[in-house]
Amino acid sequence: MKAVRLHGYGGVDQLRYEEAEPPRLLSPTDVIVRLKAAALNHIDLWNRKGLTGMDVEMPHILGADGSGVVVETGADVANVKKGDAVCLYPATGCGKCEFCLTDSDFMCIHLRVLGERLKGTYAEYVRLPAQNCYPIPIGLSFEEAAAFPLVFLTVWRMLVTNARLRPGENVLVLGIGGGVAGAALQVAKQMGTHVIVTSSSDAKLEMARNWGADHGINYTRSDFATETRALTKKRGVDVVVDCVGGDGWVKSLAALAKGGRLVTCGATAGASPPTDIRRIFWNHLSVFGSTLGSREEFRQILNFLCNTRMRPIIDRVFPLKETPAAHERLERGEQFGKIVLKIAD
Ligand SMILES: [Zn+2]
Repeated sequence: MKAVRLHGYGGVDQLRYEEAEPPRLLSPTDVIVRLKAAALNHIDLWNRKGLTGMDVEMPHILGADGSGVVVETGADVANVKKGDAVCLYPATGCGKCEFCLTDSDFMCIHLRVLGERLKGTYAEYVRLPAQNCYPIPIGLSFEEAAAFPLVFLTVWRMLVTNARLRPGENVLVLGIGGGVAGAALQVAKQMGTHVIVTSSSDAKLEMARNWGADHGINYTRSDFATETRALTKKRGVDVVVDCVGGDGWVKSLAALAKGGRLVTCGATAGASPPTDIRRIFWNHLSVFGSTLGSREEFRQILNFLCNTRMRPIIDRVFPLKETPAAHERLERGEQFGKIVLKIAD
């Protein structure tokens, strides 16, 4: 099969489009999926550079998101059959620990995620447990079905499970353009909230307005905490989605109303920002950290996508062999929405 394989930790020159051994069934509960599309996530960049502690045999196949058609099933597989079009839940646990036994296998200490400890989706075929395959929501193309799982799963857990977002609330989403930020904007708007977004790019703020954002703040020209307070009659917002971190962290806390909630799943601008702890207790703030989400949360998203007919925001589709260029685009932060790899028609 054709695949893009990582030959060593480092730059995009370590990614090679080449012939690779196709995966074979190893367990009666596994399936083989012929992939039609994959999608990029920031974690792919960290993994490529060897910054996540991922220790895998090279050459390795990256990619946590994918969609395709089931072509082989183990003897004990009942939930899918050959020919089914599926999207992929990216994580699998040990099946034995306290987290795995309580539908929290995404917290398993032996967690394996596609593209990390499992060979990923930058390839024509992937092997994974059948229980990680779900029917593609009605109306979604293979590209869209590859684009939503990781970011919508993450956003759903952050906004719905953790922050308990309610209709009519005010939400601030930092760094619009990224996959998580785009999904947060879409879910928050669909839930009937007022959404403010930030970016350093006026073009991205304009695109965000087309996707439903109520206000855009260019944080290179004004302090987004001050402006958020001005836009909310000094009250502040109920929820901040901050996957950026860095110097903006203190401003995120300052933008929250009393009793507000901050959710985070990333720190692309810096992982050790200063924090005024007094602001957290004085203002009764909550901070929620999470990555990924449970299978139940994934099921809720699939229903949400079916019922709302929402489609993930796709930035650009690259052919699989142009994966290095796709990585460079993500690395430069030029995208608005998800960068997708097309693997087959
Ligand atoms: Zn476990």
